[in-house]
Amino acid sequence: MAGKLIIGNWKMNTRAQSAQSLVAALLADPVCNQPWVGVAAPAVYLAALGAQLAGQALQLSAQDVSSFSADGAFTGEVSAAMLRDVGCRYALVGHSERRQYFGEANPALLSKMNNAMAAGLVPVLCVGETLAERESGQYLEVIFSQLAILAEVSAGEYVIAYEPVWAIGTGKVASLEQIAEIHTAIKTWCLQNAKPSANIRVLYGGSVKAENAESILKTENVDGALVGGASLDAGSFRMICQAA
Ligand code: 13P
Repeated sequence: MAGKLIIGNWKMNTRAQSAQSLVAALLADPVCNQPWVGVAAPAVYLAALGAQLAGQALQLSAQDVSSFSADGAFTGEVSAAMLRDVGCRYALVGHSERRQYFGEANPALLSKMNNAMAAGLVPVLCVGETLAERESGQYLEVIFSQLAILAEVSAGEYVIAYEPVWAIGTGKVASLEQIAEIHTAIKTWCLQNAKPSANIRVLYGGSVKAENAESILKTENVDGALVGGASLDAGSFRMICQAA
């Protein structure tokens, strides 16, 4: 693998024009226009961005994917095949905001993982504990219960992102010791339980910024970053990619 994997999660931000300008800025920058860099854009803009990215190294990601796979009566849903059709390579699955605001849980997330892989996407399964779960000391159990679907997935390529909920959008970054502990625990768990078990990349997410990217990306068992707020600014995102 050449370098780390860096994905910018734009969440519910941008408009058609600003999304295309941001992608144009990243494409013009050889630090960012790399096959190990991606942007997770709002679903409504993916088709236009997919056309803009055709033939380029920079990768496109969806922020979610339907748990239903076949075409049909699923109003409002976007299937894995549709995402693939417009040029997506990745799809985030089970982001903590989806778990928190939309009640997403393991059975649907397992379907999302399998649908994404069957369609040729690489799903990025997001896991992480809330502040209360960390303070209760139960954080490893929480993370392992979220990882449990990886024992059941149809074998394929996927990525894991560790995003402690208390570090998302708060400016509070997990310490390098905390990150190393969880990333090592996730990889150990995967070796014992996941399908397939080896060579699974684990990204860190939660207030990754230009200033802290280098130390986080150098931390043991950190294979990249899932970047929220800082990915909306081409200059900040460039510095994170440069640190990889
Ligand atoms: P922030 O980088 O804004 O904390 O968001 C992290 C995140 O949720 C990425 O998916």
